Amino acid sequence: MRGEKIVLRVLDASGMDLKLAKLGFGKSNYERFANSFNKPHGMLLVTGPTGSGKSTTLYATLAEISKPTVNIITVEDPVEYRLPGVNQVQVDIKAGLTFAAVLPAILRSDPDVVLIGEIRDRTTAQLAVEAALTGHLVLSTLHTNDAPSAVTRLVEMGIEPFLVGSSVDCVLAQRLARRLCDWCKTEYGPMEAELIGARWPYDLLGTPETLWRPVGCRSCANTGYRGRIALHEVMPVSPRHREARDRPRFGARDPGGRIPRGPARPAHRRPRQGGGGPDLDPRGRPRRRVNPQLPHSPADGAHEVFPPHRYRKEPT
Ligand SMILES: [Zn+2]
Repeated sequence: MRGEKIVLRVLDASGMDLKLAKLGFGKSNYERFANSFNKPHGMLLVTGPTGSGKSTTLYATLAEISKPTVNIITVEDPVEYRLPGVNQVQVDIKAGLTFAAVLPAILRSDPDVVLIGEIRDRTTAQLAVEAALTGHLVLSTLHTNDAPSAVTRLVEMGIEPFLVGSSVDCVLAQRLARRLCDWCKTEYGPMEAELIGARWPYDLLGTPETLWRPVGCRSCANTGYRGRIALHEVMPVSPRHREARDRPRFGARDPGGRIPRGPARPAHRRPRQGGGGPDLDPRGRPRRRVNPQLPHSPADGAHEVFPPHRYRKEPT
């Protein structure tokens, strides 16, 4: 209600080298990601919060794919970087030029690669899935915190799980972390308690000999940090994922109305039929009690105070 604010988003592509390999990918992550964007079709999603570098990663990926023989069209809101050899369309909601409105026209022109700035609604999600299933490589972003949630988000948007399974090829979740200033960082031997506090993966990396800590100098305005590095989580969708995703949930009915057979739940986890509360049995009849004076439910401490064997009738 009060106050004014200006947000300045600096999109300076000139100082930026759009090289995917320089974005801080680990070797295996890069291989998994590259394996996905080199396929001729499927959907590749980049997730992460606002300002986590999703667009930069997608642009770098496009730069990697871009060739004179590859037809690439993007729909963006806004167009952040101009890429040579790529058709870029700017979304204009006031003019009715939304993702959902532009995409059908774009798909009719049969591009090889489509970049959709963001999947925000059901229609866009459906179009993206259709495009991925009809022989296009679709790149897009979603607002989720990690890679597996992208799948759930698409299902929540109303996409059938089996369609998500067959269209999504890879999900990349991304965060940006500060990078230590190369001029002033200093080495130190870490204390064990510090490593445990930071949940250091001893089993994977062993004990580290040296770590680096920030100091601060003129080059980094005394912050100790300069630049940022991307951290990635790459989740390729494997046949096993697809199988799990296509499997109906417990109790779900198939189109024929039958309940598919699944592993039976143990008796104590089955939902109570007719839910009559502590005084009614599963069929809704009043529960018979051995002795109405005694507590009858575990919550009343029945099991601690009155072990069942005490009530067994002794042979006379
Ligand atoms: Zn410094």
